[in-house]
Amino acid sequence: MNLKDHIRGIPDFPKPGILFYDISTLIRHADAWQVAMGRLAKVVRAHHPDLLAGVESRGFILAAPLALKLGCGFIMLRKRGKLPGATVGYDYDLEYGQDRIEIQADAVQPGQRVVVVDDLLATGGTMAAGIKLLRKVGAEVPAAAALIELAFLKGRDRLDVPFEALVSYD
Ligand code: 5GP
Repeated sequence: MNLKDHIRGIPDFPKPGILFYDISTLIRHADAWQVAMGRLAKVVRAHHPDLLAGVESRGFILAAPLALKLGCGFIMLRKRGKLPGATVGYDYDLEYGQDRIEIQADAVQPGQRVVVVDDLLATGGTMAAGIKLLRKVGAEVPAAAALIELAFLKGRDRLDVPFEALVSYD
């Protein structure tokens, strides 16, 4: 199955000039969803994770069922102010301005292997921040994974771990 047949490009979203790759059509198609999760499970399993970390919010859609499939725990990397209890944050630069992601301070035991999962890698800024944040709380990060990679943005060059993607756009 070609997963690209189930991903649609929506022009001018969220801003004029941006082509947004929409995964809604893939995840609502039972067979495509099943195939995508099976393929992701295969590539992520090879890195022997103890935990999968999902990046809010579309990363959660993939990482939680994938963790269940692999017999791993699931942890959340969330936007500022969303997590209860003690948190640790990491600030990172966007094209215009800054953003911050947070994790619960006790989400990871020192040395646990955590693979970060998101729906799409564009510039790589979000994924790189997720990796740094996980290390800040003591995780070992053996790999990162996404359903889609926008290869022309060279986001994987910003990552210092192996990166797995199922679908790539040039
Ligand atoms: P980056 O930080 O790599 O530039 O952007 C990746 C983040 O933005 C991911 O969390 C992803 O969900 C979101 N994102 C950026 N562009 C797209 C897109 O075209 N489609 C989807 N589904 N997410 C996008």
